[in-house]
Amino acid sequence: MILYKVNEIFQTIQGEGYFTGVPSVFVRLQVCPVGCAWCDTKQTWEAEPQDEVSFGEIIAKQADSPLWCLASEGDIIKQYQSLGFTAKHIVITGGEPCLYDLKPLTAAFEQLGCQCQIETSGTFEIQCSDKTWVTVSPKIAMKGKLPVLISAMQRANEVKHPVGTLKDIEQLDALLLETKCQHKVGIALQPISQKPRAIELCMQVCIERNWRLSIQTHKYLNIA
Ligand code: SF4
Repeated sequence: MILYKVNEIFQTIQGEGYFTGVPSVFVRLQVCPVGCAWCDTKQTWEAEPQDEVSFGEIIAKQADSPLWCLASEGDIIKQYQSLGFTAKHIVITGGEPCLYDLKPLTAAFEQLGCQCQIETSGTFEIQCSDKTWVTVSPKIAMKGKLPVLISAMQRANEVKHPVGTLKDIEQLDALLLETKCQHKVGIALQPISQKPRAIELCMQVCIERNWRLSIQTHKYLNIA
């Protein structure tokens, strides 16, 4: 049986990417060795033994914290049901969710009639159901020095690239060329910050190339 380290589970609206606006249950898993300097979920990076708590304490969380609990796919499904969530779109995120074999978890949600989406950096092998929508947000040349895997890029349904400067576009171009997937996958550029320079750059390149612009709408709305 696989035990997942769960940082939080909550219902909200998907704020970014292809499913923007879709009511979603987020299952955030703990641990990420990728090391993005601008990461907005740094509390998920480590799973310190002293931060292990019960699932009840994870559910009761009121703010971001490094607390986590161990849970099987059955435990997670039980919580989804007992919390009375109505969203049928499940976003499995992190941290880096692909540190785990997600086949049991995605299959269990699909048995309930849910659609799963994974948000991953593309630096670990993706193990999930065939029907799962895979969003790869490729983290290139980050502190953890983990390469983006060709297999991850080729499994992606959507590549959602964080962009701060022109260098980020150049790195994406090189990755798309190397992985030969630019014509097979939907590509979205996502400004790293809400800074006008990053937004203008993304808009310009999206219009030139017919790519999508992904705005982190939850940050404008100030919701989770
Ligand atoms: Fe943060 Fe995601 Fe980068 Fe990990 S991959 S450091 S969770 S932004």
